[in-house]
Amino acid sequence: MRNSFSLDGKVALITGGNGGIGRAIALGYKEMGATVIASGRNSQKNATMAQELGDGHAVISLDVRDEEAVNQAVTAIVEKYGSLDILVNNAGIARRINILDMDTDDWHAVIDTHLNGSFYCAKAAAKAMVNAGKGGKIINIGSMYSLLGPPNVVNYAAAKTGLLGLTRGLAVELAVHNIQVNALLPGWHKTDLNRALLDGPLGEEIRHKTPARRLGTTDDLAGAAIFLASAAADFVTGSSVVVDGGYSIMDRRWED
Ligand code: NDP
Repeated sequence: MRNSFSLDGKVALITGGNGGIGRAIALGYKEMGATVIASGRNSQKNATMAQELGDGHAVISLDVRDEEAVNQAVTAIVEKYGSLDILVNNAGIARRINILDMDTDDWHAVIDTHLNGSFYCAKAAAKAMVNAGKGGKIINIGSMYSLLGPPNVVNYAAAKTGLLGLTRGLAVELAVHNIQVNALLPGWHKTDLNRALLDGPLGEEIRHKTPARRLGTTDDLAGAAIFLASAAADFVTGSSVVVDGGYSIMDRRWED
């Protein structure tokens, strides 16, 4: 029987795939048989990830805010590997500042990376997928902050909420090409993005407020990312999968 979760023969680009959540997804895809192209900006992290992925896979230097570079990277992937079947828009940053002190630059940096970068990558990937005529999968990494109203990150919440609109719009437009577009919404998973926060008292508080009573690991996200990239999700599109140990659905009234 065919394993509908297999990614054999698929070519996957994971932006921000040189560390954190992107690394876990990249390694999960590799395990399921995909050819993985991870991307990032930091050359040292890229080199370490290239070693970890090994032969037959690649790590490329790519800033997702640069539309021309994104287009060139997708063209190069299709030339070298024959197609691009799976895109994971994962690259991300955070700038935590109250709105009263937030500079315009803090707003643009976060919107440019998450929202504009995902648009550039999705557009280039969708064109490549449509040209190849084999369908495809686009997975946008949102956040539980796509759903909640968090303090001190209006830039991030706006970008992550915008990604849900991007997901739904792309899902509708691309369905006719057999391209499924979904969002994966992580909760609290300790990475470079939030290590300083979670290593402090907030980490313990969040653990306590999570019904699962633990923080997420990056590996917790790999299974859902594999599902959304696989044939098992061929009729799933425009959806959001929340992976947060129940943090975002907890009724705070019952907290002890
Ligand atoms: P990390 O900081 O560990 O990883 C972020 C990745 O994005 C790195 O690989 C980084 O590579 C890359 N990146 C940042 N800016 C750019 C850019 N302009 N162009 C290309 N790559 C870029 O954080 P996480 O793994 O935690 O974050 C991954 C995604 O998950 C993000 O979208 C984040 O918002 C989301 N998320 C994370 C949560 C968590 O709890 N950790 C919760 C909810 C969502 P480099 O440094 O080389 O540029």
